[in-house]
Amino acid sequence: MKNLSPLPIKCIDEFEKIRLAKESPTKGRLLILKPSVQQRYDEYDKKFKSNQLESISENTYSSESKADLLHCYKVSTKPLEQLITLIRENQEDHIKRVCQYCGINSDDTMDHYLPKERYPEFCVKSLNLIPCCPRCNQLKGEYWKDKNDNKRGIINLYLDSLPTEQYLFLDLHYNPILRVFGVSFYLDNTSNIDADFFSIIERHYTKLHLLKKYEDRFNHVYQKIYSSFTGSKIFQGNSKIIKQFLLDETNGLKRDFGVNYYKTVITD
Ligand SMILES: [Zn+2]
Repeated sequence: MKNLSPLPIKCIDEFEKIRLAKESPTKGRLLILKPSVQQRYDEYDKKFKSNQLESISENTYSSESKADLLHCYKVSTKPLEQLITLIRENQEDHIKRVCQYCGINSDDTMDHYLPKERYPEFCVKSLNLIPCCPRCNQLKGEYWKDKNDNKRGIINLYLDSLPTEQYLFLDLHYNPILRVFGVSFYLDNTSNIDADFFSIIERHYTKLHLLKKYEDRFNHVYQKIYSSFTGSKIFQGNSKIIKQFLLDETNGLKRDFGVNYYKTVITD
């Protein structure tokens, strides 16, 4: 998981480009809405800069206004496609076209960090769009903060400074009866990451089923490695060998993907 680079653009200009690509009467109605959208963009930016995004209120719109705002995202236009391409292209090369939430699948969709059904005015605001895979997008749904304590539950890759300390760990174990290796991923705050932020991390991993995803992925990888070693007596049950194999395989990935990338959390 890596931080994302925000697009160096004025979001209201992108809204205007998309509006101009619409036909009447939607185009005219969006023009009437534009000053209030600008106001809301300013509010978003202010809350973002002061790291108080969770305190942003929901506006009430008529069903027609809500539909017009959502039309900006739900109905494809050239300016919208260009905006989405720009968001993807603005990221570091090695994380381009990868789901920014799980780091496994391709980023075929955009997640609306503040869900578009509740915040339709932000549906084409680039700072609210996270490239991700359909599965993570579906699992996140409208969740972004917890109803009980009003604190955020999804890491915001534009806003949050990702810890440089390791919090994702892997337990490698050998089943001598089945003669196979298994893995378990777990979260642990051994480096005393800020407790509030660690709580966001825990909610994020739970909501997106990330530990299970990584286990499935790793078990698949292990099976492939294991079959390539079948017949080697020295390998059976020797986790040091498999750890070294993985360390060699993942050399360099920490730099590109961070210390909590699921492929790099193996330690010797
Ligand atoms: Zn994903």
